[in-house]
Amino acid sequence: MNGKKDIFVFIGPPGSGKGSLSALCVKELQWLQLSTGNLCRQHIANQTEIGKIIEAAIKSGGLVSDDIIIAMVEEWLLDTRDDIRTVILDGYPRSVHQAESFCSLIKNQFKNVSFHVVLFTLSDEKLIARLTSRLICQKKECQAVYSTVEGSGLEPQVPFICDVCSGPLERRKDDDIEAILVRLDMYHKHTQPLMDFYKKIGQPVIEIDVDSSLEDIFQEFKRKVL
Ligand code: AMP
Repeated sequence: MNGKKDIFVFIGPPGSGKGSLSALCVKELQWLQLSTGNLCRQHIANQTEIGKIIEAAIKSGGLVSDDIIIAMVEEWLLDTRDDIRTVILDGYPRSVHQAESFCSLIKNQFKNVSFHVVLFTLSDEKLIARLTSRLICQKKECQAVYSTVEGSGLEPQVPFICDVCSGPLERRKDDDIEAILVRLDMYHKHTQPLMDFYKKIGQPVIEIDVDSSLEDIFQEFKRKVL
């Protein structure tokens, strides 16, 4: 790789809008996005061997094993290393082990890359309200995100039909309340150690309060990072 490249690591609880903001950055800023959650769901839809292991973890609201996730992300990063567009890692690294492995990959194999950590914050009550009204496009290559809440700015133009690809919209299997509570619990458990790790290595963390409309969050994000 010749030019300098930036990687933004998005950390945020489920429902904090990492995917929606990533999609806007891809559309408006021509960035590249890797969502590990989407990659996992693609494996499940394609019924691959690791898809079966991933499915069990996702259904329970737990995390997929570090080994599987790290291998998938490293493969993707190496495949796209010659592409100089800015990259968003949406939902990775999510554990200290993943962060250590990511930092050593960047240090050893991506000498011209700077990475930036962005932390999304919102109260659990608001996250639960968002997740229980969230709809996702079922086409595996699309997976656009919508909301049934009127005035959210994320309602589909035609109920239960994707604006982007006309695919059917459904709730995510792990957006039932039991799995949501497990995912939030898991998020809180993993995030503090992750923040401690970034502090220890002197990595700044850019915080974004996401209790506003997607457009406002996008403006705030650009103001803080560009
Ligand atoms: P998301 O779409 O980011 O909410 O991710 C959905 C699910 O995919 C999570 O609840 C985890 O089971 C799995 N997953 C996504 N990213 C990771 C990761 N970095 N580490 C472990 N599991 C992950």
